[in-house]
Amino acid sequence: DQKNVLITGCSSGIGLALAVRLAKDEKKRFMVYATMRNLSKAEPLIEAAGRTLGRTLEIKQLDVCCEESVKACVDSLPERRVDILISNAGMGLIGPIECQSLDEMKTVMDTNFFGLVRLIKEILPDMKKRKKGHIVVISSVMGIQGILFNDIYAASKFALEGFCECLAVQALRFKLNISLIEPGPVITEFERKVYEDGLKIDLSKADKVTADMFKNMYLKTFKEIFETLGQSAEDIAEHTFKIITMDNPPFRHQTNTLYTPMTTLKYADPTGDLPIETFYSMVFQHEKVFNISLNLLKLLRWRSRKSFSLEKDNN
Ligand code: NAD
Repeated sequence: DQKNVLITGCSSGIGLALAVRLAKDEKKRFMVYATMRNLSKAEPLIEAAGRTLGRTLEIKQLDVCCEESVKACVDSLPERRVDILISNAGMGLIGPIECQSLDEMKTVMDTNFFGLVRLIKEILPDMKKRKKGHIVVISSVMGIQGILFNDIYAASKFALEGFCECLAVQALRFKLNISLIEPGPVITEFERKVYEDGLKIDLSKADKVTADMFKNMYLKTFKEIFETLGQSAEDIAEHTFKIITMDNPPFRHQTNTLYTPMTTLKYADPTGDLPIETFYSMVFQHEKVFNISLNLLKLLRWRSRKSFSLEKDNN
């Protein structure tokens, strides 16, 4: 029997790749409701979906920032049944907080965090009744460990993680699964938008040291980090596909093993000083060490790609 999958934010990136991956499942195990805020942006998805459109994939409107839109979309599904919810819609924000307005910050929280809350409020009660369902949330490694100049974005992902940790215990009582997917950098529209917005920031509201840190250090390494460590949307779709098709899916899944040491530092030291000091010295004291690390990571990345494709082949 086919599972109904509802995915948000499918006009680009991870959402688009995942919708297509699931719709093209050889065993036709999924009926994908690929949703997006603005249906006029459906062309890339329509093209990628190909012959699955109207068969195992349907496109629907859903704005995660609008309760009525979420309800209308769920109401339009057969029996309102969502077997797998994939909360993917999200946005980034970088820069010194002195240069960001509260309205900008609220939009990030509203999309990344309350977007999930709206979906859950609409879908969880039915899942509980059926005692069946899987909620998959595209979080980030920044849901575990904050990174310089990503203050509000990391806060929005931390919010998701705290929310889901609380719900997971309840979910277990109803035999429901919750999984947080935690990618590192992924090369999508997200990266381009965040970078371009970063270049446009009016840094006059920040002091010289902060402005310099952001412009001459953070923005300069931003591109390099994505180019060196970045995964593709298809990589993340593949990881998510695996989690969805598992009998006992884990609560957390990091897609990029290169980031595991970073998050491990956090658990290794309850005072929290270890990751902060490590980041500080990486960024400010050892530019050379930083560059060497990047090169080492490039090598490890190549190796982990190889082992991931081997794992896939074995399955
Ligand atoms: P993306 O920009 O290509 O995709 C995000 C999608 O969300 C877009 O299609 C956008 O239109 C949609 N969206 C934004 N606001 C919406 C709203 N109110 N209602 C419905 N849709 C809305 O970027 P992506 O990388 O594919 O991002 C997908 C998810 O992955 C996000 O939650 C993001 O935080 C997360 N993520 C991305 C990265 C990365 O480096 N790209 C890393 C970790 C996690």
